[in-house]
Amino acid sequence: MRVDHLIAGKSVAGTDYFETVNPATQEVLAEVASGGEAEVNAAVAAAKEAFPKWAGMPAPERAKLIRKLGDLIAKHVPEIAQTETNDCGQVIAQTGKQLIPRAADNFYYFAEMCTRVDGHTYPTPTHLNYTLFHPVGVCALISPWNVPFMTATWKVAPCLAFGNTAVLKMSELSPLTAARLGELALEAGIPPGVLNLVHGYGKEAGEPLVAHPDVRAISFTGSTATGNRIVKSAGLKKFSMELGGKSPFVIFEDADLDRALDAAVFMIFSNNGERCTAGSRILVQQSIYADFAAKFAERAKRITVGDPLDEKTIVGPMISQAHLAKVRSYIELGPKEGATLLCGGLDAPSNLPDRVKKGNYVVPTVFADVDNRMKIAQDEIFGPVACLIPFKDEADAIRLANDIQYGLSSYVWTENIGKAHRVAAAVEAGMCFVNSQNVRDLRQPFGGTKASGTGREGGTWSYEVFCEPKNVAVSL
Ligand code: NAD
Repeated sequence: MRVDHLIAGKSVAGTDYFETVNPATQEVLAEVASGGEAEVNAAVAAAKEAFPKWAGMPAPERAKLIRKLGDLIAKHVPEIAQTETNDCGQVIAQTGKQLIPRAADNFYYFAEMCTRVDGHTYPTPTHLNYTLFHPVGVCALISPWNVPFMTATWKVAPCLAFGNTAVLKMSELSPLTAARLGELALEAGIPPGVLNLVHGYGKEAGEPLVAHPDVRAISFTGSTATGNRIVKSAGLKKFSMELGGKSPFVIFEDADLDRALDAAVFMIFSNNGERCTAGSRILVQQSIYADFAAKFAERAKRITVGDPLDEKTIVGPMISQAHLAKVRSYIELGPKEGATLLCGGLDAPSNLPDRVKKGNYVVPTVFADVDNRMKIAQDEIFGPVACLIPFKDEADAIRLANDIQYGLSSYVWTENIGKAHRVAAAVEAGMCFVNSQNVRDLRQPFGGTKASGTGREGGTWSYEVFCEPKNVAVSL
């Protein structure tokens, strides 16, 4: 299969191609066009040309097309989920039942919302101030390889709904489902040039895109290192940066332990551990630490690792051999830093079906006796590797939770309502879930603080990057 760029509604061949590979089988899935400055320039020009008409379309008409795109995604869930699973290794139980259906919801939600954009009024005896929210113009949307379709639609839906046009660049490791999104957008009747796709590597395609003078806003999801680089070359563009994380999952001795265990296991091992909001530092109060660690490891050992196309599989392959090597290097490092390996480790998973024997697999791994200052606790491993860290009391839990460069998500488990609110207020993170795993409501402000990023997206928070507010002051 060959996948080309989508520019001004047309499939545009590349001058060069790269391969995208199934991480479970190492089979080449497609040859994908590798774009550079020329393709970026053409795509930005197409988006710029399409902008006035799209921005000028009454919101209810735009909403109809956006909703239609949601319908087409909903209609093709099984096909898109299978492509996503093959391209990035996220298991079919997640892609088919959660991630792809949620992508359709992103379009439904923002279709509705764009018809309800309102402003503020600030009346005074002499002036009436009111706010207009204009579309920004051409937006660069850049996505990582984990949950690629969901992340792309989380950007494309508000971007287009609010009247902007887009150039989308997916990760070179998982470009396939977004290519399908481009086709479905045209099928939905979204005019050519409104959504353009340039495939390629960060350096060749990403850099010219974020530096392009006609790009007015950047919505980026990816690593902290790349986010830092982009901010430097973006100049005076609007941007939102959704970056890495190493989120604390704090469990007090008075928590509902069974529920906390289920949620802790889910938050580190689902999505193969390749999840920005993973609860990867599990802070457990000393009095229940030993019991919790034993039960947690017991559950981790029972997790099914296998063919991501099998409905029963919980953990699939890591996205690439390079990423597998990175995750394994941390598993090797843990014991050297003084952590105790409770389960998992470097051995290949047993009983892998023949089809996926060459996959990039890691067994769910649990480290106990982790000190928060160890590298395995401080670095984003981005794989199925849990660190269990003991703490003494509330103050100690807060200190440890915040002793990290990141601040994306956080989780607090306690039956003491006052303590829950105090810790939620004190934790340095963009999001805090109390007695809950990460449950998304599309109205929530999604995003992080510190090295996890700037800006929020979701609900009216998406105005921040995709709308330009203007104050109008009328003399009375
Ligand atoms: P990455 O930073 O390597 O790449 C992300 C995207 O940026 C890719 O499309 C890549 O091609 C592009 N890119 C790379 N260099 C670029 C440059 N100089 N200019 C412009 N674009 C460039 O990240 P990744 O490895 O693909 O993704 C994993 C990271 O993403 C993890 O750190 C994870 O936590 C983070 N993430 C964050 C969120 C969030 O919402 N905060 C969500 C998902 C993933």
